[in-house]
Amino acid sequence: MNLRQLFLTNIAQTSDSPLAMEFPYAEGSFLFDKDNKKYLDLISGISVSNVGHRHPKVVDAIKNQVDQYMHQLVYGEFIQSPQVLLASTLVRTLSPHKTHRSDAIDNVYFTNSGAEAVEGAMKLAKRYTGRSEIISCRNAYHGSTQGALSLGEDFYIRNFRPLLPDIGKIRRNTIEDLKKITSKTAAVIIEPIGAESGVWSTDVAFMKALSARCLETGTLLIFDEIQTGLGRTGYIWGFEKFGFAPDILLSAKALGGGLPLGAFMAAKKIMSVLKENPVLGHITTFGGNPVSCACGLASLSVLLDEIDLKDVVQKGERIKSIFGRYSEVKSVRGEGLMLGAEFENFTILKAHIDHYITSGVITDWFLYCDNTMRISPPLNIKEEEIDFLERVILR
Ligand code: PMP
Repeated sequence: MNLRQLFLTNIAQTSDSPLAMEFPYAEGSFLFDKDNKKYLDLISGISVSNVGHRHPKVVDAIKNQVDQYMHQLVYGEFIQSPQVLLASTLVRTLSPHKTHRSDAIDNVYFTNSGAEAVEGAMKLAKRYTGRSEIISCRNAYHGSTQGALSLGEDFYIRNFRPLLPDIGKIRRNTIEDLKKITSKTAAVIIEPIGAESGVWSTDVAFMKALSARCLETGTLLIFDEIQTGLGRTGYIWGFEKFGFAPDILLSAKALGGGLPLGAFMAAKKIMSVLKENPVLGHITTFGGNPVSCACGLASLSVLLDEIDLKDVVQKGERIKSIFGRYSEVKSVRGEGLMLGAEFENFTILKAHIDHYITSGVITDWFLYCDNTMRISPPLNIKEEEIDFLERVILR
């Protein structure tokens, strides 16, 4: 059997129509197939490869760490420099921004994945407030484990019930829904920009009202920045647009620089409850793996040292205007390089995606929005690579 047949036979499939493409090599903004044909990566592995594929500084950091050690002990027992240095660098990016309660986020709990960061944050909020209700936004996706999945929409969750009880729903940008947040609510979890619903921004006025309601009811505010974080929206953190940080901040995807890593972050006074009653309130074997953290630290350093966020915004505007000139695109939404181009319906969108792939551009659509094309290239995509994209789109 060839690799494709083995893939279809031995790799668990999650749909009947996987893309099933094979790219033995990747570099910068491109994936390369077996014939060395290059494909512009317009989705960065779903907002993972924010500094491009195999940035030399990131590759070096992994190699150096592998030469020292790869795993020592479960999370939180030994002092492992890649974890400590990444945590302190993350805290440095957060230090100019106080939470809406005027706290400083200075504690990082590293996890394996985004979903585990969501799980950790929900547990932390329940434990800190002594409440059980968690409220999420309609059409939000926060992960596939049973807790995170509970925050999602019926289509993807109904056949896995029972899941978590006490889950409430609000609509993004709908102030009247905020009255559903009460003194029984442990936390509200929201993305600064709803990703898998098809890139929907949050109004500053709504976010401020949400914060006010959380302060009034003693509810913790969780921002899921698993897609919006680390430069994607033209800010290091998507929350910067709102003028305040949340009580608990989530990161993953680009955080590991291409290796598996997530984190939930909060002020020490909140995070400390995981130490007692019971001790070891959240534990994980591979969360904060040293190689992932070394890779994440190098990637974050590239972001901070080499990528101008003004360029991210300008390139996003350029890509928006290219798609906007295209008669079949109804609208282009988003901020920075987190964009979605809406087509009339899935059939039309799919025909475009197929044409793009044949022409050397990889893209797809969103979990809860199948008429909108995902556009989230590496943040250091070059102008000439956007020229190439323009030629494919406006063929
Ligand atoms: N939150 C958001 C906003 C996401 O986009 C995702 C993944 N698409 C997750 C959580 C879950 O992350 P992971 O796949 O790493 O578990």
